[in-house]
Amino acid sequence: MSEVEKPIRKKIMATGEMRKIMADYFYELDTASKSSDMKVAWCSSVGPAEILRSLGFYVYFPENHAAMLGATRMSTDLIPYANAIGYSPEICSYLTADIGAYLQRTTPLSKAYEGIESIPKPDVVVFNTNQCRDVQDWFGWFATEYGVPIHGVHTHRGIKDITEAHVRSVAKQMEALTEPLEKISGERFDIENLKKVLTLSRECSDLWKKVLDTAAAVPSPLTFFDGTIHMGPAVVLRGTQQAVDYYKMLLAELEERVKNGEGAVEGERFRLYWEGMPIWGRLRDHSELFGTLNTSVLASTYCNSWIFSAFDPNDAFNSMARAYTELFIVRSDDAKERYIKEMLDFFKIDGIVYHDAKTCPNNSNNRYGMPQRLETETGIPALTINGDLNDLRCLSDEQAKTNIEAFIEQLEEK
Ligand code: SF4
Repeated sequence: MSEVEKPIRKKIMATGEMRKIMADYFYELDTASKSSDMKVAWCSSVGPAEILRSLGFYVYFPENHAAMLGATRMSTDLIPYANAIGYSPEICSYLTADIGAYLQRTTPLSKAYEGIESIPKPDVVVFNTNQCRDVQDWFGWFATEYGVPIHGVHTHRGIKDITEAHVRSVAKQMEALTEPLEKISGERFDIENLKKVLTLSRECSDLWKKVLDTAAAVPSPLTFFDGTIHMGPAVVLRGTQQAVDYYKMLLAELEERVKNGEGAVEGERFRLYWEGMPIWGRLRDHSELFGTLNTSVLASTYCNSWIFSAFDPNDAFNSMARAYTELFIVRSDDAKERYIKEMLDFFKIDGIVYHDAKTCPNNSNNRYGMPQRLETETGIPALTINGDLNDLRCLSDEQAKTNIEAFIEQLEEK
């Protein structure tokens, strides 16, 4: 099929504004990194960012940087440098790509933003093990390298139903962070500041959910591939007014599309759910491949991971503890399957694509019989693609393409 004939994924007009606020965010971090008065905290992507922001830290998210290494296809060449110092090719390729980039003194930020020469130097690094243990090792390596303190929240994992005991244990750890962080930031912890940040974070989360929920419309006004790009502010700017303003703008555009019956994919015939990590270096290829098959991959667990509906400024620590513990990645297969069934129904899904990411078992849910159980219960067919979030050596493009095309044929026959 020639370039002109290819069905195109409809462009989102708000993208320009998103690029601008992301640029402002990185330039501000760069300034903070070079100033002795401004403090930078590194935070895991579903870590306690609200506490850090309330204490005046400029917050940087290494996972966002690692995803940029993947999306710019720099990661595959950088991973071996981390392997050479003892970090296995089998572990998180965000970790190995990010450490490899540091060792090679390179960053995609320099290419994207003129004048930025390096990632921002931290004054402290903070993680939450709710997603995996790898963040602790990853952040620990950088804390040693930069000679800065490291603090963590240790969350129970594989939880079926969240109890008060789970919430209290995490809330206490979050409260205990404030004292050492005050000393680093030089600012006293003020619960009123935290409430303000949490109010903005909740607003951002609610708007992000509404944005993603527009995909329930037929045809869907946005795809999973759009979501992986537009989730940037929900990850790195939650707790700020900029993120809230941005999602109001994006939501208005998508609601307009729904009103006009405009789909993101030309002639949408099939609607798929993506389960697992994106393959960052192949977002465009996959978007085009599904587009040519008139198939919209329109919803995912991954993009939904930055919805924190439990945030309540009037019960700050407990509600943060609950929100950061009730995430999909923290839960047992029972709870995950319950959640996916709701999503299949809500988004009117015809099929599920599981991405078995070689280096992220935490976000690969196909390994313990889930696809088979869900298919038996719902009758919705599933396809598993073997690949990786960042290490493109783990992916066979030809095989993925053949399998996806065969899967769509199967849906057609159905
Ligand atoms: S959840 Fe997966 S991709 Fe994310 S930091 Fe952990 S191992 Fe890496």
